[in-house]
Amino acid sequence: MTAKTALRPSRKSADSKPTKSPSKSSKKGKISSHMGKPVTVSKLKKKLRSLFSLYVRKRDGYKCVTCGKAGEGSQIHGGHFITGATCGTELYFDETNVHAQCYHCNINLSGNWVRYEDFMLRQYGLKHVEDLKKRRTLEMGRKVGTEWYEDRIVHYSGILIN
Ligand SMILES: [Zn+2]
Repeated sequence: MTAKTALRPSRKSADSKPTKSPSKSSKKGKISSHMGKPVTVSKLKKKLRSLFSLYVRKRDGYKCVTCGKAGEGSQIHGGHFITGATCGTELYFDETNVHAQCYHCNINLSGNWVRYEDFMLRQYGLKHVEDLKKRRTLEMGRKVGTEWYEDRIVHYSGILIN
């Protein structure tokens, strides 16, 4: 066990900081290294899902985009335009694909889709709506890594704190 000394890196210059790009940083993410043990994708997804839902509901003022009903807390959901069960992760967490919806519209009416599409067309225009529909097929089954989740968790945590 004499590897210790060999691991010491030689210092070249003090001011050359390692530059990390947000998407292609090292394997150790900000969150997993903090905990000291690897964090699973499913745990990160769960965390991001709650942050993202909170962000969307706040952004939309806790008011259902398909019927106009206002609510508070868990009365208002983050409702998907392209259904969460059938879309890939990137679309699942796309801010333009998720909006505040009341329980009735989101669950009982399965998204209240006709009205949801009306809203989407008014809000984003036909091209964007068609792009989202195309992405559903293109991105289906595409996997994202832990860094993808960690970047977004940091992003939405930052927004929600302020
Ligand atoms: Zn509603």
